[in-house]
Amino acid sequence: MEPDSSDAVRNLHPPETEAEEVEVIYTDRPTLHNHRLAFSNNFNRGGDCVVCKQQITGPHYSCPSCPKVFIHHYPCFEVSDHIQHHPFHPQHTLTLSDAHALIHSSPDSDTDSEDLYLGCGVCSNDFDADGGYVYSCDECPFYMDVKCAYLSLTNCKSHDHQPSPLHRHPLILCDKNKNFCYNCTCCDLPIEIEGGSLYACLQCRALLHKSCANLPQKMEHPLHPSHPLVLFYDCILFTCQVCSGIFQGFCYHCFECSFYMDVCCASLKPKENNKGYKLCADLQNVIGHLLHPQHFLRFRHSSRLFKFDQILPCGACLQYSRGFVFECEQCRWHIDVGCAFKKYTP
Ligand SMILES: [Zn+2]
Ligand SMILES: [Zn+2]
Ligand SMILES: [Zn+2]
Ligand SMILES: [Zn+2]
Ligand SMILES: [Zn+2]
Ligand SMILES: [Zn+2]
Ligand SMILES: [Zn+2]
Ligand SMILES: [Zn+2]
Repeated sequence: MEPDSSDAVRNLHPPETEAEEVEVIYTDRPTLHNHRLAFSNNFNRGGDCVVCKQQITGPHYSCPSCPKVFIHHYPCFEVSDHIQHHPFHPQHTLTLSDAHALIHSSPDSDTDSEDLYLGCGVCSNDFDADGGYVYSCDECPFYMDVKCAYLSLTNCKSHDHQPSPLHRHPLILCDKNKNFCYNCTCCDLPIEIEGGSLYACLQCRALLHKSCANLPQKMEHPLHPSHPLVLFYDCILFTCQVCSGIFQGFCYHCFECSFYMDVCCASLKPKENNKGYKLCADLQNVIGHLLHPQHFLRFRHSSRLFKFDQILPCGACLQYSRGFVFECEQCRWHIDVGCAFKKYTP
C-alpha cells in the first residue's frame, strides 16, 4: 500500500489518537543505514541525501531516530552494493562504502604517494569527512563517488577514447545522469551549460565540457603579454591573479613570473563571471572613477605597485589586491578591478 504524502508526513510523529493511525512504510537497507527507514513522498522535507550529498527533492527515505539521515528514493536508495566491470575500472569489483569510514581507516602518511589519493578517481571531488557514500575498489586504491559511477556511458561504444587533438589523454564521452548535478573540473561551471554531454579523463581525474577538453596547451594572453601561458593541471590551490578567486585544478600558468589565471578568466569567450573577458573586451586603459574623481586611473597589474616602499590596500575594499587594479600615479592610490565596477552612489 502506498500512503499519500500527507499521511506519510503525519505519521513520522506519534499519532495523537488511535483513529489517526495510518501505516508508515518502513524498510531496512543495512548497507546504507543501520536503523529502519521510513518512506515519504513529500518533496519539501529539506536536508541532503547521505548517499549523494545533494538536496532531497522528491520521494525519499528518512530515519525516525537520526534527524539528518535522508536518502533519495531513486537512484540513491537503489544503488548497487557491488559493481562489476564498471567502464571506468573494469578490472576489479567496486563496493559501496561509507566515505567517513574510509577516511578514518586510511593510514596516516605525509608521503605524496598516488596510492593514498582519497577522492573520486573520475572527478577529483574530495570525499566528505561528514559522510556520504562512495564506491571503493576491493583490490586497489581506486574510489569513485556515486554520481560518477552512475554517469551514462551509452555512447561509449562509438566514441570511447576518442582523442581530442588538444588534450593529451584518452577521453571518454559520457552523458550526465539526470538525477545528479555535475560541474566541470576545469572551469567549475555546471555541465548543463553545454548540453548534458561531458568528457571524463581518468588521467586528469576530470569531468570536462567539450570546450574545456579542447583548451589550448599554450596561449599568448593580452593580460600577461610578456610570456606565453601554459595550461597546467595539478591538485594545488591557486589564486587567480585576474579575479582574485581561489581555484583548484586547471589554470594557465607562467612559470617565470609565478603568474596564475583561471581558465574562465583566460578564455576570451564571454561567460558568466569572466573578468578576464571583461578586462580584454570592455576596459579602457585609463578610467575616471567616482571614488577618486580628481585624477584619471591607469590599468595595471598589482605587482607593478610594489615599487613603492609602502604597499597600500585597495582604496575601496581596503584588501591587498593580487590582481589587476586601476592606479592613480600622482596619489599612489588604487582600486582593484572588482571594486572599480561595483555600483557606488555618490
Ligand atoms: Zn541521493
Ligand atoms: Zn538512524
Ligand atoms: Zn566523481
Ligand atoms: Zn581496482
Ligand atoms: Zn568547463
Ligand atoms: Zn587528461
Ligand atoms: Zn580569475
Ligand atoms: Zn610571465
